[in-house]
Amino acid sequence: MASVVVNQSISSGIRTRFAPSPTGFLHIGGARTALFAWAFARHFGGQFVLRIEDTDVERSTPEATQAILDGMTWLNLQADEGPFFQTKRMDRYREVIAIMLDKGLAYRCWASPEELDEMRESQREQGLKPRYDGRWRPEQSPGKSPPPNVSPVIRFRNPDDGSVVWKDMVKGTISIANSELDDLIIARSDGTPTYNFCVVVDDLDMGISHVIRGDDHVNNTPRQINILRALGGQEPVYGHLPMIHGPDGQKLSKRHGAVSVTEFDRQGFIPEAVVNYLARLGWSHGDDELFSREDFIAWFDGSSLSHSPSQLDYDKLRWVNQHYIKQASEAYLLAELQRRLAWRSLHAKWFGDDAAMVMIALVRDRLNTLEDLADWACSLLLAPNLEDPVIAQGIGQALKPEAVPAVEAFLGKLKTEAVTGDQSLAWTADHIAQEIKRVIGLHAIKMPQLAIPLRWWCFGRGQTPAVDAMLSILPPSVMAERIEAGLNHYRGAGS
Ligand code: GLU
Repeated sequence: MASVVVNQSISSGIRTRFAPSPTGFLHIGGARTALFAWAFARHFGGQFVLRIEDTDVERSTPEATQAILDGMTWLNLQADEGPFFQTKRMDRYREVIAIMLDKGLAYRCWASPEELDEMRESQREQGLKPRYDGRWRPEQSPGKSPPPNVSPVIRFRNPDDGSVVWKDMVKGTISIANSELDDLIIARSDGTPTYNFCVVVDDLDMGISHVIRGDDHVNNTPRQINILRALGGQEPVYGHLPMIHGPDGQKLSKRHGAVSVTEFDRQGFIPEAVVNYLARLGWSHGDDELFSREDFIAWFDGSSLSHSPSQLDYDKLRWVNQHYIKQASEAYLLAELQRRLAWRSLHAKWFGDDAAMVMIALVRDRLNTLEDLADWACSLLLAPNLEDPVIAQGIGQALKPEAVPAVEAFLGKLKTEAVTGDQSLAWTADHIAQEIKRVIGLHAIKMPQLAIPLRWWCFGRGQTPAVDAMLSILPPSVMAERIEAGLNHYRGAGS
């Protein structure tokens, strides 16, 4: 049959779409679907369309739509067209329904819910699979008059015979017998179009060549293909991606860790790292684990897609993230640090951009996430809580009585020269290193005997990058205060 509704003006070529329902945040599974659909279009020089499937007005919210749009921006997955909103296309759906009624592709059904329940019950009793029996198909109801005061639904006249067969990009050939499929309701009794129908009209109108989506939609596909064909459209190629599970193989949920794109951002993952990691969930290119977006686009031709569910491995994601943090520009890290410190309402006059840059250069190779960067800044900005059991234990193990005079000597010099005098600027990393060397020589102790207690007292950590460089970030008065507090605490505990 010639096409009745297909929009011929859409250019041919590869056109994919991401079609989220705005009922919550952008889930990591949705993000992976979006990424694959986007990369496939990019690989073939095609177009990527964003469509918001918001016809479920009860569950769709503007906040969720915004979260999806923000998530897409964060992942830098730019749509070539859209976002289109299904709620803005109601007239079009009604138009197509009218055409289908007119052509006999769909019909009105006045069966009441009670009547349908009875029908299913009796089918079950006969050992049959419950299924609409076509009682209001025109040929089965000649002369039958509709019940009064009942608004009909509209059903698609599904083919009776044969099977719907498609070659799935991921799952291979799938075949579903038409005898398994109902005459699908395409418009409810209040006239609103149903989900599967809107998807078909949109995929046709938007000239979608490849539908890449989660495999929770496999059951919808034969129904959609039948409607597409009835409308005279060429069905797209379908690719159904298996789910992403948690590390334990169970359905991914919040108890496993972050599941929304927003949460990955909050936890300090870099968008490029998330994109790289997601690309490997359900797809592979040899043993390649770390690759750029450009490489991904160049390699992603729809082959090598995995048939089985993948598992989100947070440790591996952190490893990928670490790689991207090492590669990130200092300006990016500084901006991220400022954003994250603002969330924590943390600031100090002395911790300006210059100090932050010194810290970034020192710690960047130790970071798994951008939140770790903010944690390092906290170590500088906040005096450690000496009652904290981890810190107390660390100091207890590191501080030997023979090191105390060396600490006192160091503090004494610091106080006379830097704190009370006007020598603050002289307390550079080099100067601190010299001073540490001098006092450990004088008191015949080893470097760690002084350096490790200083780390605990000044930063609340037993391990840091070079202690002289770290200390040089602190204003000498702050350094003196912390060391003094540490010594007092030690003396108090000892007495
Ligand atoms: N709106 C559907 C969802 O969010 C996707 C539909 C489709 O990709 O065909 O699950």
